Amino acid sequence: MKVLVPVKRVVDFNVKIRVKADGSGVDTANVKMSMNPFDEIAIEEAIRLKEAGKASEIIAVSIGPAQAQETLRTALAMGADRAILIRQDETVEPLGVAKLLKAVIAVEEPGLVILGKQAIDDDCNQTGQMLSALLGWAQATFASALELGEGKARVTREIDGGLQTIEVSLPAVVTADLRLNEPRYASLPNIMKAKKKPLEEKSPADYGVDTAPRLKVLKTEEPASRKAGIKVGSVPELVNKLKAEAGVI
Ligand code: AMP
Repeated sequence: MKVLVPVKRVVDFNVKIRVKADGSGVDTANVKMSMNPFDEIAIEEAIRLKEAGKASEIIAVSIGPAQAQETLRTALAMGADRAILIRQDETVEPLGVAKLLKAVIAVEEPGLVILGKQAIDDDCNQTGQMLSALLGWAQATFASALELGEGKARVTREIDGGLQTIEVSLPAVVTADLRLNEPRYASLPNIMKAKKKPLEEKSPADYGVDTAPRLKVLKTEEPASRKAGIKVGSVPELVNKLKAEAGVI
C-alpha cells in the first residue's frame, strides 16, 4: 500500500515572527524555513508503517515555491521514497491544496494519506478535512496513535479532555497530532542518499486545478505587547491590587 504525505514549507518554529510593514502578512524574507513540524510527524508515521511491512512506498508532496524542494529532500532523507513538488510561488489556500492533492491521489492511488493536523504558519487546520470531503474518504483527525488492520485503520484521537478511538475503512485521510510519535533526525548518509531519490516537478496546470485565492487578507497585526509588571511590597498590597485594580478577585 502506498502512503502519501503532504509536507509544507513554513517559517521555522523557532523564528520570532515579524509582520510586514504594510500589514499584508508575515515577513518571510531572509527567515529560516523548515518542514511544518506536524508534517515531520506524518512522515515519521509513514516510515514506521513501511518498517513494519504495512506500507510499500512513501510519496511526499509539497505545493510551494522552488525552495520547497529542500523540504522534500528532508522528507526523502528521513525515509520517503520519492517526492513531487507542485510549483506555485503564490500562497495556495487549503482548498487549492486539497484539490491538488486529490488530483495527485487520482494518479498515485495511495491507500492512506497522512497530513499534519495544521500548518503552523496559517494555523488553518483545514486541508485534511477538505481533502477527505473532496475524495469522499473517511477522515481521522488529530491522531495520537495509528494501527493498520485489514482494509481498516484504528485511530486514537486527541479530543478535549481525553482520547477517542475510532475505526475507519481504507483508503482514508489521517491528520497527525503532536503525540503520534517523535520524528527521527535524518542521518548524514541518508541526507546524501536523498539527493539521488526521484523528485518530480509539476505545476497546478498539469493537474488542471485553479489555485486562485478565495480569501482576501485584510490586515495582519502583531499581538499587543505585554505591559511591564510591578513589584508589590506585601501580600495585603497584592490582594488589594488584585481586587481594586485588576478586578480579578
Ligand atoms: P492547514 O490546513 O493549512 O493547517 O494544513 C494542514 C496540513 O495540510 C499540513 O500539515 C500539511 O500536511 C498539508 N498542507 C497544507 N498546505 C500544504 C502545502 N502547500 N503543501 C503540502 N502540504 C500542505
